[in-house]
Amino acid sequence: MRGIDELGDLRGQRVLLRSDLNVPLDGDTITDDGRVRASVPTIQQLTAAGARVVVMAHLGRPKGTPEAKYSLAPVAKRLGELLGADVAFAADTVGESARKTVAALADGEVALLENLRFDARETSKDDAERGAFAAELAELGDLFVSDGFGVVHRKQASVYDLAQALPHAAGLLVRAETQAFSKVLDDPERPYVVVLGGSKVSDKLGVIDNLLEKVDRLLIGGGMAFTFLKAQGYEVGGSLLEEDQLDTVREYLTRAADRGVELVLPVDVVVAADISADAATSVVPASAIPADQKGLDIGPATIELFRGKLADAKTVVWNGPMGVFELAPFAEGTRQVAIAVSEVDGTSVVGGGDSAAAVRQLGLDEDAFTHISTGGGVSLELLEGKELPGLTVLES
Ligand code: ADP
Ligand code: MG
Repeated sequence: MRGIDELGDLRGQRVLLRSDLNVPLDGDTITDDGRVRASVPTIQQLTAAGARVVVMAHLGRPKGTPEAKYSLAPVAKRLGELLGADVAFAADTVGESARKTVAALADGEVALLENLRFDARETSKDDAERGAFAAELAELGDLFVSDGFGVVHRKQASVYDLAQALPHAAGLLVRAETQAFSKVLDDPERPYVVVLGGSKVSDKLGVIDNLLEKVDRLLIGGGMAFTFLKAQGYEVGGSLLEEDQLDTVREYLTRAADRGVELVLPVDVVVAADISADAATSVVPASAIPADQKGLDIGPATIELFRGKLADAKTVVWNGPMGVFELAPFAEGTRQVAIAVSEVDGTSVVGGGDSAAAVRQLGLDEDAFTHISTGGGVSLELLEGKELPGLTVLES
């Protein structure tokens, strides 16, 4: 995968840069600018090299036509603040405003095009439609840089087809993300421990399937643990349970045993009658969850057990909170496991949108992890071992 350095002299070159600027908005206010921040280093590298940078991105899920509430205008403003420079904003994607805005750029300047998904061809399933949109985008640039890690699993015009239309490279974010994942997927130092949690086991079947072939230990917490506990014959009360996955989970338990993978489940659970911030909680053994209670976090003995299983790890991947970390009474398991992951003497990678959010929300030191992925869905697809169109296309 080529990097920006391999694109040659960038001075005066118009670089079309796909970034992931899909931020949460409350009216015009960006409530979390993490993705805008993550896009800055690549933009700065390009402007420092004298490129004329044309940033392309999407916001939300408009239905292929302009809608004011999905305008990227507030993002252009925030990006300008973070760069400490004006960001020219084009009121369309491939129309007159875009052409004029790009033509007016001087070397080292930055423009942002309006939401790509205001054009239905961006996400079309029809290759010719997407190709036509990519060809119109390609007229606005000389080179293409792919840095929207959160969208590289999408076969979309600005992610996939544009890379076929122009000389291309991967941006710093896409490089860092893919390097982190290829290290843990292809070349892990051992012991290799994966910690999985989150709400539904059915969301993570592909991840478990792929990682069972690679890891030494698999620690399972969060809502998905209860389907495993039930598969082992325990009653789980009102906890999250996916009855239709019991057979699959039993197969995982067997496969783990056959392969010598240590599959570790909670031994105690924080339970409450309701999911609320002032719920009365108690800790019960995983084998004795009362019928009228829900398991909402792993208990203290499980925290100790998981810490022990992580202590000698050389590679750790963590995906999925250990409990309902959004509420204080059920956050301790996630906090303690996150700290244990960050303390690992080796490579620690956090994947999953809510897991990364948990690290931030719980005020943990983000720098203590080797890598915290910015891509929720993408990181899961990588952990599933899937080939992602937006990455494959950059290899050619
Ligand atoms: P990620 O986005 O990191 O992949 P998921 O989306 O799979 O994670 O799961 C995150 C959600 O799982 C959180 O909103 C959290 O509240 C919920 N969750 C974790 N443990 C439980 C539990 N025991 N019961 C209900 N929900 C849970
Ligand atoms: Mg999630």
